[in-house]
Amino acid sequence: MSTTLQHADILAWLREANPAQLEKLWQRADTMRRLNVGDAVHLRGLVEISNHCVRQCAYCGLRAGHETLVRYRMEADEIIEAARQAVKFGYGTVVLQAGEDYGITTGWMAGIIRQIKAETPLAVTLSLGERPDKDLAAWRKAGADRYLLRFETSDRVLFNSIHPPLSHHPCDRIAILRRLKQLGFETGSGVMVGIPGQTFDSLANDIALFRELDLDMIGIGPFIPHPATPLGVSRVNTELQTQVPNTELMVYKAVALTRLVCPKANIPATTALATINKRNGRELGLQRGANVFMPNLTPLKYRRLYEIYPAKACIEETGNACNNCLTLRIRKIGRHIGNGPGGRRQRAAIPTPQPQPEEFCHA
Ligand code: SAM
Ligand code: SF4
Repeated sequence: MSTTLQHADILAWLREANPAQLEKLWQRADTMRRLNVGDAVHLRGLVEISNHCVRQCAYCGLRAGHETLVRYRMEADEIIEAARQAVKFGYGTVVLQAGEDYGITTGWMAGIIRQIKAETPLAVTLSLGERPDKDLAAWRKAGADRYLLRFETSDRVLFNSIHPPLSHHPCDRIAILRRLKQLGFETGSGVMVGIPGQTFDSLANDIALFRELDLDMIGIGPFIPHPATPLGVSRVNTELQTQVPNTELMVYKAVALTRLVCPKANIPATTALATINKRNGRELGLQRGANVFMPNLTPLKYRRLYEIYPAKACIEETGNACNNCLTLRIRKIGRHIGNGPGGRRQRAAIPTPQPQPEEFCHA
């Protein structure tokens, strides 16, 4: 089941401020989630394997220009150990994320993927930036199942201004996403909400692009300013009628609308959302369209150094504490933890819902 929300509807919902109307949007997204991906919440153990990065993204605290940040790269056996911990906690997937770090060599990474696949039943998701085709192909061959690469915004001019190319090689994350699909990866992307200069119109285009790319996973979080970055020192001008605010409410709207246009996608309640509402941001995300959590398995000694933005949620908790806390949060909202890898393509059959008679246009 998918609704045929058009650009004008998405735009109107993004601008909606009436709480009673928004309640209808949350309910509709929650129903769509339940009918299409069920009540299971899939847990992906996140391991932040390196904070080295060659890029100069204007939004991110890991950018190469952040010279005072102490850099680390996990050892292979530390990564394998974190994967074993994921198995111990009953997770179906391990997500290996890093800055765009060419110290992570093709062969070294392929060896780690091979070992995890040989030793564990885990699905392996990579999120290692815009790596050349030969790396992506080698890692797929080694057994990696999924790749995450957010396009951040579909507004090319805005993207180019906040994500400079590497030595004049143009960046085309959309082209890489299409290539990842050809290579057979389950493919994930996503955006930040409230980037300075992001308009309502472009956020509506982002949501339509999720549908066009037929993504398997879609991550949506608020832009959180980092003081050591160019965008961290410029204020988001919310006085401008066109500027998307980087608020919690805007993230819920984008998550709910994404669930409506991509009913079967895996959509996490992101750490960035938990960071701006530590009390119950994740729960509200799960009740407004999301179906995935990513508990952090990065060893504590590195956790603080993976400083994409300040005051990140869960930087003091051990993997064990994170696991216990999330299990409790999931049960409290009447959901249960999913079994197995929980990929979009190998999901267990859920009864096909009947198409709904009326469209959910914004009226
Ligand atoms: N280097 C890889 C990449 O860029 O795809 C993966 C790691 S990167 C830190 C993961 C994501 O963090 C980015 O895609 C971006 O959306 C998000 N991010 C970076 N800086 C952020 C900020 N200031 N606020 C919110 N999210 C941010
Ligand atoms: Fe590097 Fe990714 Fe951060 Fe950009 S968003 S600076 S590529 S870690």
